[in-house]
Amino acid sequence: MKKLPLEIPGLLKQGISSLKVFTAYNHRLRLQDGEIFKVLRIARQNGMLVMAHCENGDVIDILVKEALQRGDMAPIWHARTRPAWGEIETILRMISLSAQAEAMVYIVHMTTSGGVNQVQRARQNGLAVMGETCPQYLFFTEKNLLQDDGAKWICSPPVRTEKDQDGLWQGLAHGNCRPFATDHCPFFFNVVTQSLMRAKKSQFRARSWEKNDFTKIPNGFTWCR
Ligand SMILES: [Zn+2]
Repeated sequence: MKKLPLEIPGLLKQGISSLKVFTAYNHRLRLQDGEIFKVLRIARQNGMLVMAHCENGDVIDILVKEALQRGDMAPIWHARTRPAWGEIETILRMISLSAQAEAMVYIVHMTTSGGVNQVQRARQNGLAVMGETCPQYLFFTEKNLLQDDGAKWICSPPVRTEKDQDGLWQGLAHGNCRPFATDHCPFFFNVVTQSLMRAKKSQFRARSWEKNDFTKIPNGFTWCR
């Protein structure tokens, strides 16, 4: 991130008033803590809102590498290589960075009851934190990833457990999980649809049927079953 902080005020002039930062997707989208702190501070100075994708990119990379080496490639390993604790820890870290930058932060697509707890605690302490969840995390769990067609339920962060669903519903009921958004990222599921759409030069891609390797399956729920 060399020029990014300098470019942020210019984005506001183009009508872009919110920014999304990532603590995962190493070597692609991820920013380091110091970079996120700078973004939060400059966003606050310019009246912009920072949204945060909270997962631990370092841990995910290690777990994915180890899973592939062991031959654990089924869709369930998408969730098992992106642990709930990674979300909980990075939500707390993001809250801490935003407090230090004296900026508001919006935690997107929360999946864990532990994450809701972090947001609740921050709000009780008067910090400017908002937490969002999405329907996929309220209605589906890791059990769906264990089905034969488990590839249909791959999204990032992953779907979790029934206990997490309870925590998210509680978060919605008490205003700690707000707003409720889709974060929709759809893919066609079957190869026939994929080839049809390719023939029509559609921008939409199909997720791979290669359920033998979870890292090759696009992240996002399906349109067609
Ligand atoms: Zn995200």
